[in-house]
Amino acid sequence: MAPLTSLFLAPVDPRSAPELASIQQVLLDLEVIARPLGPQTYAAGEGFSRQVVYAGCSPYLVMQPPSDGSLQFCHVALHGPFALPRLVTGPNTPKPRCPACRASLADWRTQLQDWLAGGAEVHCGTCQRKWSPHRLDWRGHAVSGRVLVELRNVFPGEATPSDKLINTLSERTGEAWRYAWAGCLVD
Ligand SMILES: [Zn+2]
Repeated sequence: MAPLTSLFLAPVDPRSAPELASIQQVLLDLEVIARPLGPQTYAAGEGFSRQVVYAGCSPYLVMQPPSDGSLQFCHVALHGPFALPRLVTGPNTPKPRCPACRASLADWRTQLQDWLAGGAEVHCGTCQRKWSPHRLDWRGHAVSGRVLVELRNVFPGEATPSDKLINTLSERTGEAWRYAWAGCLVD
């Protein structure tokens, strides 16, 4: 079975932590989410297929939880607020690039555990600069934030959020938002 992947929405500034209640209200207003499935986890609503735009031909979307308890169906999880930005990568995350010299960091997976433990900086062996891992250019295949909206069971590149969804989140939280694909985050 392929690893579960998700489409994530997060504030552009990973240090910001808008109120989860206002984020939840945006998702309710646009009908992206419906009934709760568990703590901070929701069934996809009627608006899910309007606000999550699939490239190419629309796949058959499984909207109901499978009887085997699998997470392989469209649903939404809210995460946070974390005290520090949480970095989420995925099974297919490519090598991130240094934001200054654009060199790719070939050994990033060996450094990942230190980054996730918190505090470790990334050293670019090409330009010798140091960065927070949140500053690297992950090319849309990793996300970091203190609050995250996770649209589960979306393959990397398969779908993107509508402009309306991103713009409404930005207007209502006062923070610019962006999206990325990464592995499923189960706390
Ligand atoms: Zn560099």
